[in-house]
Amino acid sequence: MMQSVSVPIPQSAPIPAIPVREIVPWAVFGGVGVIVLLYFVGVEQGAASIFSNTLVHEFVHDARHLAGLPCH
Ligand SMILES: [Zn+2]
Repeated sequence: MMQSVSVPIPQSAPIPAIPVREIVPWAVFGGVGVIVLLYFVGVEQGAASIFSNTLVHEFVHDARHLAGLPCH
């Protein structure tokens, strides 16, 4: 004979709403970080480079080729 067992369904807690005012600074911070990273991977070489040596370019060289950016 089958017995039915009632298992209480756990009630999920309501998802708290995050105000936009708290998200904007982190979004700006992340956006600036991505732009700086894209600069160093994509543009930092040659006459337009910030650093005169090729250390940064060589450090991100594989990422540059992985992203399909022109290099050499
Ligand atoms: Zn290259």
